[in-house]
Amino acid sequence: MSDRFALEWREAGGLTWLQWNGAGVAAAFPTREGGVSQAPFASLNLGLSVGDEPGNVLENRRRVSAAVGVPQERLVVPGQVHGTTLAWVGEAEAGRGAFDRETVIHDHDGLLTATPGLGLAVSYADCVPVVIAARGADGLEFAAVHAGWRGMLAGIVEQAAAALARRGRLLGAVVGPSIGPCCFTVDERLRRRFNERFPGTAGEHNVDLWACAGRDLEAAGVPPAAVTIAALCTASDARFFSHRRDGGSTGRHLAIAWRQEA
Ligand SMILES: [Zn+2]
Repeated sequence: MSDRFALEWREAGGLTWLQWNGAGVAAAFPTREGGVSQAPFASLNLGLSVGDEPGNVLENRRRVSAAVGVPQERLVVPGQVHGTTLAWVGEAEAGRGAFDRETVIHDHDGLLTATPGLGLAVSYADCVPVVIAARGADGLEFAAVHAGWRGMLAGIVEQAAAALARRGRLLGAVVGPSIGPCCFTVDERLRRRFNERFPGTAGEHNVDLWACAGRDLEAAGVPPAAVTIAALCTASDARFFSHRRDGGSTGRHLAIAWRQEA
């Protein structure tokens, strides 16, 4: 299993990202370094909805696309709302949301595809990005999901994995950098909700969202040995944007996932 699934740091064009290679599907999780945006978005802000200069965001996206090797016009970006709505996308959706906010796949927090060459991109800054790989009847398929605590409780990770499992066999998944159990403190009411939905994942005042994601992935049928958790906390690690640490005024990362064709 170990040679089929790898998580490693990569560098190109002044950018640094964590790359997951999972049985033919890859996912890139860039740090905030190497972009052109100014504080509080310094420097590789990839989100168009946070008040940053759109020109800077597009230059940052251009750099990421070039570095990881997925053309910007092949990205598909959802308009996230902390819900559980998923959509299958294909050639017709290539480029939606890649250059502007208007053409995003509105009101979706997860995308799935079987189309070669598409890059599914979800944005986050503490929320949990999850990429799931599967083999369907027609080849590799994958999902990219944005799971904040609301989406996690509502089951978006499990629903995305189940949507892939219905068509084939789940191969593996990665839980990207996001707020860790060290920093995701919650009130008693939320702690209780998590303990009911994901027994054992809540501490006295905190919740382990990574463990919650792992639970749902395994429940849906991802082999436990093929679930990779980056275990990098965006709120603890200054290389990442953190909505909580930065008081809401900060940039967004994009997790980009694609099929690795020969
Ligand atoms: Zn932390």
